[in-house]
Amino acid sequence: MTGAGVSTLCGIPDFRGPQGLYRQPNAERIFDIDWFDRDPSVYYRGCRELVYGLESFTPGPVHLALKHLEDIGRLDGIATQNIDMLHQKAGSSHVYEVHGSPMLHHCRRCGAEKTFAEICAMIHAAEASGGDGGGTFVPRCGCGGAFKPDITFFGEALPEEAFARSQELAIRADVLLVLGTSLTVYPAAGLPRLTLQRGGKVFIVNSQPTPLDEYAAGTYPDLAAFAEAMLAL
Ligand SMILES: [Zn+2]
Repeated sequence: MTGAGVSTLCGIPDFRGPQGLYRQPNAERIFDIDWFDRDPSVYYRGCRELVYGLESFTPGPVHLALKHLEDIGRLDGIATQNIDMLHQKAGSSHVYEVHGSPMLHHCRRCGAEKTFAEICAMIHAAEASGGDGGGTFVPRCGCGGAFKPDITFFGEALPEEAFARSQELAIRADVLLVLGTSLTVYPAAGLPRLTLQRGGKVFIVNSQPTPLDEYAAGTYPDLAAFAEAMLAL
């Protein structure tokens, strides 16, 4: 399972870090579903760079190392808390995004679907033509509803399918690698416990201590060094 530390290696700011999104004023409103329905421009303003600038980021050493482990038949799948789609960009084929993803957007009114690329194109076109009168551009459906990313907002349920598949993976894993997460955000943080309960081993690679360190078969602080070692397998 992977968390923010894997993405910060690629230069993507951690939402919860000192430079992160959650330090912006009114940050708690950005990913709140009630606020989104009241005023979707709060989200689109707050995430213009972070989410709709993701096109310019490329996979880092951990993404590449996990793709390599899959290629040599040693990795069944990835449960990620990240919403940056970099595992898919690296070519990993079984990625379960437990906090959702902006890969698809849906209209809040009629349910119409658009891809991340389509939404980016709408944003770029609006900006090229001078926006919508100086305000923040909100991509809207033909029906008038706002498009919302399939990122799980506060006030929404976690994506059931992705979480169920992640639990299955954790339960049958001989080894679960916990990479770049401090295991503080539940329920995703409960996944390693499932592995431990079934007698599997958990290795934790994170720059900060985690609540499960004492149960881990090994803990390491340096993700980049760990990725390098995996790539050499
Ligand atoms: Zn619609």
